[in-house]
Amino acid sequence: MIIFSAKNRAPHLGPFPLEKLSTTDRQTTYSSGASNNGPIEFRDSANEYSIVNSLAPFMLQLDRMRDGPIAARKSPIPGEYKERASHLKSAAYFLDASMVGICNIPDSALLANPLMNPELPDAKSPGKYPSANKYLDNVLDVIAAQLEFSSRDDAGLTSTKHQYGIVIMVEYPRDPDPDEAGGKWIAGAQAHRAALRTAEIAVVIAQYIRILGYPACAHSATTANLDLNALVVAAGLGIQDSSDKADNPFLKKRYGVSVVSTDLDLAVDRQLEFQAGKKATNFRWWLGLDGARPGYSLPRYKKRPYHLGLYPMEKLRRRKTTTTIIESQNVPRVPKRHDMFTRAAAGELGDKSQKQMQYGRCVTKFPFANSMTPLMAATIPLQEGQISATRAADTEDPESNSKALKAALHYLGADMVGISSAPDYVWYSHQADGSAIVPYHRFAITVLIDQGYDALEGSSGDDWVSAAQSMRSYMRANLVCSMGAAHIRNLGYSARSHGNPHQDVLHIPLIMLAGLGELSRIGELALNPFIGPRIKSAIITTDIPLAIDKPIDFGLQDFCNKCNKCARECPTSAIPFGDKIMFNGYEMWKPDVEKCARYRITNTAGAMCGRCMKVCPFSFEGVLAERPFHWAALNLPFTRSWLAKYDDKIGRGRINKIKKWWWDLDTDMNGVIVKAEKSNARELNFRPLKYGKQKLAAYPFTIAPSALSKTPVKIDRKGGVEWYRNAKKAGVEVSKGKNPDAG
Ligand code: SF4
Ligand code: SF4
Repeated sequence: MIIFSAKNRAPHLGPFPLEKLSTTDRQTTYSSGASNNGPIEFRDSANEYSIVNSLAPFMLQLDRMRDGPIAARKSPIPGEYKERASHLKSAAYFLDASMVGICNIPDSALLANPLMNPELPDAKSPGKYPSANKYLDNVLDVIAAQLEFSSRDDAGLTSTKHQYGIVIMVEYPRDPDPDEAGGKWIAGAQAHRAALRTAEIAVVIAQYIRILGYPACAHSATTANLDLNALVVAAGLGIQDSSDKADNPFLKKRYGVSVVSTDLDLAVDRQLEFQAGKKATNFRWWLGLDGARPGYSLPRYKKRPYHLGLYPMEKLRRRKTTTTIIESQNVPRVPKRHDMFTRAAAGELGDKSQKQMQYGRCVTKFPFANSMTPLMAATIPLQEGQISATRAADTEDPESNSKALKAALHYLGADMVGISSAPDYVWYSHQADGSAIVPYHRFAITVLIDQGYDALEGSSGDDWVSAAQSMRSYMRANLVCSMGAAHIRNLGYSARSHGNPHQDVLHIPLIMLAGLGELSRIGELALNPFIGPRIKSAIITTDIPLAIDKPIDFGLQDFCNKCNKCARECPTSAIPFGDKIMFNGYEMWKPDVEKCARYRITNTAGAMCGRCMKVCPFSFEGVLAERPFHWAALNLPFTRSWLAKYDDKIGRGRINKIKKWWWDLDTDMNGVIVKAEKSNARELNFRPLKYGKQKLAAYPFTIAPSALSKTPVKIDRKGGVEWYRNAKKAGVEVSKGKNPDAG
């Protein structure tokens, strides 16, 4: 909860009021001697069950991706150095950096003995995780082919002499207490957590710059050619003192840092005055009038135990069953083959959609979204792995396991965590190749990641940044869950993560069962009362004993009944204006997923779409002034119609131009990055609702292709429209039957 809105704060300024710090022309050249300490060691031999012991392969994957091929052609980006610097800073803040500064790299910051992750493979050794490494090599080869890269070097220390350093800092949250839930696993891991979080951002930014056609390399706490601490001083983020870690005016020494070195010309920041913090850490900052992260709220989790998370989910009404009917006996298990994007890739939605699905073009055409796809793919081999032969003591109590795992996942970066059983119907029936999936775990731990308020404010919801918002959250969700699953396996139990790149379970019913959301009018989206519809999820399935959460009820069914904003604003009219129906055993406002997928895939004035998420009144910034609205929406049913209208009246859902930082770049069919010809900038559309005229189709298992069908089966739109019409007539009592593919 913050008191003041940051709606007028430009994204490149970041959450801390760095612009208020006093700076100097002096150019201190500072060598911290930090390299003598060597890379941070991802091993805690004193505590076998420390989370640190499960993180090493993830850090290694990030270090493997630090460098790589550079696009053969330079992209048409602005030439102004200041604009470029602001753009890259905004991109790093979009990825959740706490602070970003840019400097010239002085010669004194070049390490005579570079830091090197001891697990990195080299010419003599394949490294510790050869299958993950091999997989990553394949991913990088695909990227190289896709964007006409000139060459693809293996991750190596090829880029030691760049001119500029982009310094990325991530703050520490509260130090976990070893005696709190999960504390024994997460205490003592601050440096490792921050090393991972900063490296994730640096790897994506370096990849982005290389895709744009310029050299760039990421330097982390485990693999670096540069003295990171010296660059913190050079980039105006810290003040040299007698220790080997610079002092940051807001965070002191509670931060981790990674750097991107590059030869892309950028405007640099000034260094800080020695007394810089004195003026900036004042009452205005503490209150939140300067910056966007008030001093009183630091460090994160200051007043909350880690297992509860940052949002007061524990205060919501809970119930035995979900607020929308799930006829579990009638929910058919569906094959991955039914997914509309899979069908589009197979050509079942026509040539235009199929072409846009090649290499995931509908996403990767926007270069910044593309810069996250290698890391997403590189996590796939880490979603499962070896289970420790010995079981950790004290892991038989379901209650304490649930609390401790929630604490660990929140600590690693989850915005919300909930736990449920994993009934058979949430499992896909078949893999994309037609092989059957037999459900293999009892429990599901669901993790939500907020797609972020700011970028959504600056966009129409269906412009270029849309795909990047999704990729950022898919990437983070799968990373967090894969780390959590690795930790459970280290405790001696089976576990695997299911994220956007690869999954065996359906997320939406699990979000509802875990008490993290109710099904909304948007249809195939469970909406959370605190971050609304702007969520992406990943799941851990496991057999460790767990206590499960109950579904929530915050009045959304009634609110959506009285609000039609997403239906009105959807560019393709894919969201129903009318009542819910039964579909495959679920009571829901069934959207026309064909219309939605087709638009997202073939959108020529943006990349993908999330306009329904953008305009929903439940997408809150989290300021004090919104609290009465939020409280009334949850607790006073008679206010909901008025609240939905009021949301429109005060212009929520419009574009806040101050928040737009991204460049409208597209990639043509030859893989060349070009300036986008068009960019969606639609504003609120107050057209009257036309219930009767809306024509929707749905594709239940009865009219979808068999899981085993290898040849394309053209989508049966006529059949889908007819099925929908009949389902509307029948109300919520249809959909009885059995999936012939369910086995
Ligand atoms: Fe409509 Fe876009 Fe939402 Fe799909 S994602 S339902 S096209 S607003
Ligand atoms: Fe429900 Fe309105 Fe949000 Fe749509 S926009 S999901 S109807 S609250």
